[in-house]
Amino acid sequence: MKSFCVALVLVSFVGAALSADKRDTAPAERSAKAPPASAAASAKVEVTYFPADSMLSENGLLKLKEWNYLEAIAEAVQTGFRLPEPLNLVGQPCGEPNAFFVREGSDARSIVICYELVDLIVQQAEMAKGPDRRQKLPEESRALLAFGALTFVTLHEMGHALIDILDLPITGREEDVADQIATFLSLHDLKDEEDHELALWTVVGGSWFFDMLSGQRLHSHLAAEHSLDEQRLYNVACWTYGSDPRRYAGLVPWFKGASDRLLRCEAEHAKMHRALTRLIGPSLIPQ
Ligand SMILES: [Zn+2]
Repeated sequence: MKSFCVALVLVSFVGAALSADKRDTAPAERSAKAPPASAAASAKVEVTYFPADSMLSENGLLKLKEWNYLEAIAEAVQTGFRLPEPLNLVGQPCGEPNAFFVREGSDARSIVICYELVDLIVQQAEMAKGPDRRQKLPEESRALLAFGALTFVTLHEMGHALIDILDLPITGREEDVADQIATFLSLHDLKDEEDHELALWTVVGGSWFFDMLSGQRLHSHLAAEHSLDEQRLYNVACWTYGSDPRRYAGLVPWFKGASDRLLRCEAEHAKMHRALTRLIGPSLIPQ
């Protein structure tokens, strides 16, 4: 399967965020390589946008529509996975920034993206600083950061969906496994530099999102089903670095004072990659 995030970006986003050169050439090139929809063996993936109910949710809805986001995910899932069960992709107002996978009854499974989450990510990305922490990121990078963060969140929910639909055996916290699957899908089957660049925006976007959420910790955070956001950030960075230490050497400074973990990342990623390839690989459609 073409990297999920890459497929998603190519379907919906290249035209909006990459340079004019890439805008003119890349999508056509890629779509020529993509298999026809009829080759997909996935069950149906349906998209629903519910109406917004506030200004914040209206902002999020408009951004999803601008990106053609849920349609793009639907196409990427439909052509990239062999899902034995249908999946709904839902945009809706939730009253809070959130995204989740929900199964109602025996067969109604949905990934829900809350409009408030989209708005939060876009607003925060607008204020994102560059590596020197003084200047704002360029506009194009801010858009890619927001899109990457939302894609990572979506892939995390896709992780929950795959655990449910494929009945994947897991023996750790499901939230950690969902982060592993999101990272695995982000980095899967990257063929060229553009693939790698877009994958990097996804894992960096995910890490940035966790950094944004991090802060003072209460007992409820320690007891929650998710690892702490700071830990999720380091996990994603570690697995990404471990997948190709030379390519992702730029992540090494993130582990200042935590070199013990860094030394283990390659082996950690190899073990995770082997397990997920065995579990999910048969359900991925080669591109
Ligand atoms: Zn989750």
